[in-house]
Amino acid sequence: MSRYAHPAGPRHADVLPEDHPPAPPEDLYALDPRVWPGGAHRADGEIVLGGVAATELAREYGTPLFVLDEEDFRARAREFRESFSAVGADVYYAGKALLTKAVARWVQEEGLKLDVCSGGELAVALAAGFPAEDIGLHGNNKSESELARAVDAGVGRIIVDSFDEIDRLERIAADRGARPRVLVRVTTGVEAHTHEFVATAHDDQKFGLALSTGAAERAVRRLLDSDHIDLVGLHSHIGSQIFDTAGFEVAARRVAAFLARIHADTGATLSELDLGGGLGIAYTPADTPLAAKDIAQSLSAIVARECEAGGLPVPRLSVEPGRAVAGPAGVTLYTVGTVKDVEGIRTYVSVDGGMSDNIRTALYGAEYTCAPASRAGSAEPMLSRLVGKHCESGDIIVNDLHLPRDLRPGDLVAVAATGAYCHSMASNYNHLPRPAVVAVRGGSSRTLVRRETEEDLLRLDRG
Ligand SMILES: *Cc1c(COP(=O)(O)O)cnc(C)c1O
Repeated sequence: MSRYAHPAGPRHADVLPEDHPPAPPEDLYALDPRVWPGGAHRADGEIVLGGVAATELAREYGTPLFVLDEEDFRARAREFRESFSAVGADVYYAGKALLTKAVARWVQEEGLKLDVCSGGELAVALAAGFPAEDIGLHGNNKSESELARAVDAGVGRIIVDSFDEIDRLERIAADRGARPRVLVRVTTGVEAHTHEFVATAHDDQKFGLALSTGAAERAVRRLLDSDHIDLVGLHSHIGSQIFDTAGFEVAARRVAAFLARIHADTGATLSELDLGGGLGIAYTPADTPLAAKDIAQSLSAIVARECEAGGLPVPRLSVEPGRAVAGPAGVTLYTVGTVKDVEGIRTYVSVDGGMSDNIRTALYGAEYTCAPASRAGSAEPMLSRLVGKHCESGDIIVNDLHLPRDLRPGDLVAVAATGAYCHSMASNYNHLPRPAVVAVRGGSSRTLVRRETEEDLLRLDRG
């Protein structure tokens, strides 16, 4: 397992779980509501998503297929918006998790704002008609043209990440007589993942400006003096797949202490604080995410307490969930192609996609839940590994799982919680065309992004 890079460092990926290999589940066909989209169920043995049967989706759109349960996505977006507006905070959906024009419209209709982190994501958002003033632009290396486009479009806030970017933005804003609103991304030395976090004083990473080295303070002072840029707040993002608010608490305390120092030294009051994203979801029933309401209450209480302790007015809070909105809404359907029993070890079940539509297992050692999708039965469980069709032995979708012993080529399998960071990270490795993204709702389905064809692949190749 040590071959896996992990966002929270190697310590998180080099130990096999105690229950390895895992015990078979009681029911191979169960669809645990903690992992599957709301309303997912079986009818005549097959999985039904948003009222549409898996075999029908596969027949109409082919596999591999990203299926997005629109109602599930909207319900989670709504829950975040309601929970955070109850404590006077804003929610920006992190578009990097999954962004299509339809998704941007759902986000807008549910009352959320939107974060993008490249010119391409900004283009999708603007093409969807998303109001520019409700968009935030992130990125550690925003280009001149990305910044110019954001300023011209009237993007509501730019989260600045370096001194080079401040130079670029000053020039662009001065040229146009514009005054973009910015937040400074600070690194607090807190790195959080699942139930653990590491709080250090140093910041060995490419994002943000460190509190510990004084870089954040230099950036803030420079922006406060700027004639062309309106500094409105600070931003801190501490990690991903977080199930506990303790890391946010340490980060908020450090940011509040910094705000108090800035206030004492310069008299400036920064009115916004964004605590980033990273809220966890259940990829397997073992994951225990916090409810949006509890996160909202806990974060707002932490910020209020830390600011009051520092004698500061409480800034307007915002957060940026991506995975927690999009992840649970998505399911990937695959067709089984090859079933290979490696005697005495396990059975390798190969499907028609793989690391090109889900890189997270190879990249992070991510865990997923998979279930037979086209039929149910009573066959014995077999210890399996769900793998793709790429020329790479690390092309694994689910490392350890049990599938029914009668699984055969042509059967469909479904992998749950693939709504975030699967389509958005998809590649054309081995010249596989990327799968379609289809939305299901109320018994009908529609294409959000059509499947790529070989013609699409060849169109870019000029010979
Ligand atoms: C990735 C990211 C997010 C979203 O993270 P999730 O884990 O999807 O919630 C939010 N803000 C920033 C700055 C990010 O880099």
